Amino acid sequence: MESVMERGVRSVVAIEAHPDDVELGCMGTLLKLRARGARVTIVSITAGDQGAAHDPDADHAAVAEVRAAEATAAAERMGGEFVSLDGPDGYLFDASALRDALSAVIRRAGADLVFAPPPADYQSDHIAASEIAFHAVFTSALPQFPIAGAALERTPVLYYYDAIMGLEFEPTLFVDITDQVEEKKALARLHASQMANMKAIGGWDLVEEIEIVGRYRGLQSGTRYAEAFRPCLRWPRVRALREFPE
Ligand SMILES: [Zn+2]
Repeated sequence: MESVMERGVRSVVAIEAHPDDVELGCMGTLLKLRARGARVTIVSITAGDQGAAHDPDADHAAVAEVRAAEATAAAERMGGEFVSLDGPDGYLFDASALRDALSAVIRRAGADLVFAPPPADYQSDHIAASEIAFHAVFTSALPQFPIAGAALERTPVLYYYDAIMGLEFEPTLFVDITDQVEEKKALARLHASQMANMKAIGGWDLVEEIEIVGRYRGLQSGTRYAEAFRPCLRWPRVRALREFPE
């Protein structure tokens, strides 16, 4: 049985504002796609250099370095690649250079599917990352833009993954990640600095969020654990299915 998104996906690019967002939003689905042979590229738009609420005296460059190492370890363990565009954490705005850099990664990956943060989320970097992803997906298939790499033949399909805590996000697609949830938690634990940071910011850690939101989405959709998505319904980021899924 395969879900709509697993049909013929050869290369998926998962975009995040900070190194670890993808671990919460769509890592279970990425594990499934990877197991089916898809190439996985995880792109953080910022360096995550403000991610030290648990240690306010930490040097920002050092925080960025730790986070890149954590995200790289997680990506390598699941058979993917981690890329950071090193944008400014906490002050991310839509900018042409970031759009083009992201589009170049999408081109290099030969993506047919892109995951991005939802347009409404808890933190402004996530909102900006969603907007940047929206543009970059489009220009990845437009040869007239001055972007590195050959333009893709087709615009990748764009799906938004769940918001933090599932707030202001009404899913239209659920992917069963019951068999992947333990590995998803293990990958999140590799972000040791962020396990501590989220505890300091909100009193919860990444694994608790994965457990509770994953179980909630599973309960909504008739399974144990699920991840939730919405398609971006703006041309040309939509693709017809060859047949009805499952
Ligand atoms: Zn984030």
